[in-house]
Amino acid sequence: MNVQKIMVIGAGQMGSGIAQVCAQAGYSVLLNDLKQEFVDRGLGIIKKNLSRQVEKDRITAQQMEEVLSNLTPSTDIQDAKNVDLIIEAAVENMEIKTKIFSQLDQIAPEHAILASNTSSLPITEIAAATKRPEKVIGMHFMNPVPVMKLVEIIRGLATTDEVYQTIEDITKALKKVPVEVNDFPGFVSNRVLMPMINEAIFTLYEGVATKEAIDEVMKLGMNHPMGPLTLADFIGLDTCLYIMETLHEGFGDDKYRPCPLLRKYVKAGWLGKKTGRGFYVYE
Ligand code: NAD
Repeated sequence: MNVQKIMVIGAGQMGSGIAQVCAQAGYSVLLNDLKQEFVDRGLGIIKKNLSRQVEKDRITAQQMEEVLSNLTPSTDIQDAKNVDLIIEAAVENMEIKTKIFSQLDQIAPEHAILASNTSSLPITEIAAATKRPEKVIGMHFMNPVPVMKLVEIIRGLATTDEVYQTIEDITKALKKVPVEVNDFPGFVSNRVLMPMINEAIFTLYEGVATKEAIDEVMKLGMNHPMGPLTLADFIGLDTCLYIMETLHEGFGDDKYRPCPLLRKYVKAGWLGKKTGRGFYVYE
């Protein structure tokens, strides 16, 4: 299938990154969020990223302008009526995602593929909110999107081979590496990563060590590029909590229970780097 126009729903940290790499690959991209200020914030992040690439001589100022000209702001979901592919990157919440997908299903052209960047929610359940489950698929980018190579591609129960192949081809066109996985809570990435982060939070909660010490042990001892508490702050503590709840509910196994300290931080609005405070404080 020939995809030219892409709409990204949600201009947060993931949506803005996804819009950037799509625009850099030459696609015409609509970046949508609920309010103009959220879209502007997303576009601001993209401009900052591209300016840094110009400073480092990775792209020219003219190439930056070309990429920016491929991006169109949107605050109206009706804009989905003219696109070939929609990549949803709104918050990690099943109710919100199914509402978005059922609206998109009514607005988007019949041929359009509806993809979700969900970190853990079942693609099959999201697809069931539409009348085109065969055209619904998971496209799980990693954070920060412009840097990270992996895209986990998740087949829902009804996803066709043709749709899978189209998404795999687009992923390669974005200069990313697709890895195919089946639809199971947390897929592969977050089924393995999130329990480790949650355990690091329990380690802090139980007073085993300071946050700095926990991160240092995992960095120096396991050769991780950053410690689990720093990584949780980067991912967003609200997203981490949603993922743990999805694993807990999906497997019905208490080994996935979210740490009470994680819940407390989310309730306090300490969501990590994006709100200026999580386990650490950010300027
Ligand atoms: P974020 O909070 O930075 O951004 C979410 C954006 O979605 C916000 O700007 C919000 O206003 C917008 N939004 C909410 N409801 C909307 C709607 N109905 N229509 C349009 N926009 C809407 O969150 P994020 O970290 O970018 O995560 C987005 C998605 O990506 C989640 O599903 C998350 O699980 C997934 N994800 C996150 C990471 C990560 O490291 N943060 C990695 C991979 C996947």
